[in-house]
Amino acid sequence: AQLRESRIEKTKTVCTYCGVGCAFDVWTKDRQILKIEPQAEAPANGISTCVKGKFGWDFVNSEERLTKPLIRDGDGFREAEWEEALDLIAKKFKLMKKQKGADALAFISSSKCTNEESYVMQKLARAVVGTNNVDNCSRYCQSPATMGLWRTVGYGGDSGGIDDIAKAELIISIGSNTVESHPVLATRVKRAQKLHGQKIIVADIRRHELAERANQFVQPAPGSDLVWLSAVTKYIVDQGWQDQAFLDQHVTDVEEFMASLDKYSLDYASEVTNLSKEELIQIATSIHEAKTTSVLWAMGVTQHGGGSDTSTAISNLLLVTGNYMKPGAGSYPLRGHNNVQGASDFGSMPDRFPGYQYVTDDEVRAKFEKGWNVQLPAEPGLNNHEMVDAIHDGNLNVLYLKGEDMGIVDANANYVQSAFEKLDFFVVQDLFLTKTAQFADVVLPASPSLEKEGTFTNTERRFQRLYQVLEPLGDSKPDWKIIQEIANRLDGNWSYTHPSEIMAEAASLTPLFAGVTYERLEGYNSLQWPVKEDGTDTPLLFTDGFALPGGKARLWPVEWTKPLQFEEEYDIHVNNGRLLEHFHEGNMTYRSEAITKKTPREFLEVSPELAKERGIENGTKVRLTSPYGQVNVRCLVTDRVKNKEVYLPMNTSGEGAINYLTSSHSDKDTDTPAYKEISAKMEILEAK
Ligand code: SF4
Repeated sequence: AQLRESRIEKTKTVCTYCGVGCAFDVWTKDRQILKIEPQAEAPANGISTCVKGKFGWDFVNSEERLTKPLIRDGDGFREAEWEEALDLIAKKFKLMKKQKGADALAFISSSKCTNEESYVMQKLARAVVGTNNVDNCSRYCQSPATMGLWRTVGYGGDSGGIDDIAKAELIISIGSNTVESHPVLATRVKRAQKLHGQKIIVADIRRHELAERANQFVQPAPGSDLVWLSAVTKYIVDQGWQDQAFLDQHVTDVEEFMASLDKYSLDYASEVTNLSKEELIQIATSIHEAKTTSVLWAMGVTQHGGGSDTSTAISNLLLVTGNYMKPGAGSYPLRGHNNVQGASDFGSMPDRFPGYQYVTDDEVRAKFEKGWNVQLPAEPGLNNHEMVDAIHDGNLNVLYLKGEDMGIVDANANYVQSAFEKLDFFVVQDLFLTKTAQFADVVLPASPSLEKEGTFTNTERRFQRLYQVLEPLGDSKPDWKIIQEIANRLDGNWSYTHPSEIMAEAASLTPLFAGVTYERLEGYNSLQWPVKEDGTDTPLLFTDGFALPGGKARLWPVEWTKPLQFEEEYDIHVNNGRLLEHFHEGNMTYRSEAITKKTPREFLEVSPELAKERGIENGTKVRLTSPYGQVNVRCLVTDRVKNKEVYLPMNTSGEGAINYLTSSHSDKDTDTPAYKEISAKMEILEAK
């Protein structure tokens, strides 16, 4: 809408900083962002935003934005026109495919990009190049949660909406720093506690803000959540507190599962988790007494060698206690990036087409072959973790990566960066010349969310439209347009003129969102998947049964995987995660003045006990060294952490970047890196 003087515009967008999916109007005058104005009709946030949504947008006008394609020239780059850069990419892709086959190429999409951009990225890989080597960066965070839900209830998404979380009588938050990572959602929890006495249990190794507010706060040993969850489940069954009617009617594999609980006695759990028997009984009793329990979890659960199994244990506990199929109950894996949910929903995965349809299913593949008028590969491709190994082994030669600073955000950064050096041809598409882009042969300037149209899907499975607020800066372009240009140079013959046409095609091939159209998403309207062809959506999942054969959920026995332990000399456990003010590696928020004023640099949280033992004060600079690398960072002494637990926020790509310490160890079922399983030695570099 255009206001008063002709140059002031007011345009609706959706925040790009987390999976809550806050929507608001952006007031602009030319390229100047005047204000962010949330609207009551915004379905996820109403009139709320957090500091990032409100003030985190200066980066779009940063002088460091890429505005021209870059082509490698010796150790540096030279600016090029689009024609030259795209022709070079097409030539190299064709040549490599001819010489080594389509599987010598791989494609990585971004959970910061729109649904439509994830769709065209996987279509480029599959239909144009002919490989299933396509993945997205949600593998770094939430794939284990999705796996746990696929196993037990069939859909890999939140059971209900943020309204349901607010309705729950009991919230259990596990490995989630909700107040800083999902601020507006946390506000709803805080309000529910205050207004209708919602009870909160927090399980985390760090005393963050929600822990301070919790009715019960427990600090299990790192990586031991599966054990206490299973022990609580067993205790509930031993007391006869399970929901037998629910189990009889809606759940299979009950007997086998119950037998698998035998080993999870309170004594055993206490020994492994460091939680007392009383603490475990108190958790079980709270669940028993609440009519509805919702469990929220995040990367403290998923980023472990057994992340999928722990996510499964959460869902098992909810099934045993009948906490599905009703408002206020269920599973809520809190998606990190704005479009973690959508990037996978739209098929940027090596084994699934959009809507989680298997590439190995002949009928499904035939449908996509007809829709796209091509022959498609039937074998699943490589995930992004496997891609790095394949590059080192010489089996993958070309990588096209968009919207992710993978050399910093993937675990074992030194190993990942050395893989980039071995590529024959590397294309990076991003807003800035990131650490990763510096390894590229061609860098393509992309447009951020404010400069394009499209849709995001938030943590509640909710589709929302974003409208173009600004023109693309310089010669930068929206990702979907760039991908189309590459596809057409490879004889793709695509002719999308607007993302709505991409959505229409995706919906026609995907039952999960068959009824999603741009008309139905006009303005602040939204839809939560599954969406039927007539446009009926599904705010609460599983009201008619589960998304598994016979409509029944499935209890799934799990075994605990001990967290990775380095040798004894690495005596400091390095926990890591988000800060309220910054987003991920900080490429956007460190270029937003209002945010950097508040939190100008990274820091390491050190406990008062450890500080005293090592002679550390606020501002002391330390070096942490793991078997994989080292970081240098200044300390902040705080009782949010205890003993030899330290906390390193992941929001930097500089010398304090956490992934110089992490290993390539990953969740055994999804290959999500075990970012939370790190220990290190600490030495003092410089006094305050
Ligand atoms: Fe909302 Fe998350 Fe953006 Fe904050 S970062 S405004 S909570 S979507």
